[in-house]
Amino acid sequence: MQQPITGFHLDAENHWVADLACGHKQHMRHDPPWMERPWILTEEGRRSRLGVELECKRCDETGRAVAEAVRAALAAAARDAYEEGGLSGLCAEGRWDLALDAMRAVDLTPDIRRALGQEPQKG
Ligand SMILES: [Zn+2]
Repeated sequence: MQQPITGFHLDAENHWVADLACGHKQHMRHDPPWMERPWILTEEGRRSRLGVELECKRCDETGRAVAEAVRAALAAAARDAYEEGGLSGLCAEGRWDLALDAMRAVDLTPDIRRALGQEPQKG
């Protein structure tokens, strides 16, 4: 996912780090001849890069983690409701309706928070 640079700061080892709008950070090394970023060394150079978008891999990873968490929560809710419907003697159509209702009603917030790392992982 592309994210604009909102600022720069130096890390503990005096390397420049770009702050992205998403809250993630990326090192911007000037390490010739492997990595040429002379602009990072001057205030003007850094200012000229504000707003430039960088590919944020951590955002992509987060997006995948959230999608996985949502998929797992919906599948679990549907499966539980379908089994419950079977135990209460519902027909296949009734069980399917119950499973759909369960997927619509499931609270995904805790799973999404966990995937975003806002709560400690459980289990
Ligand atoms: Zn990001």
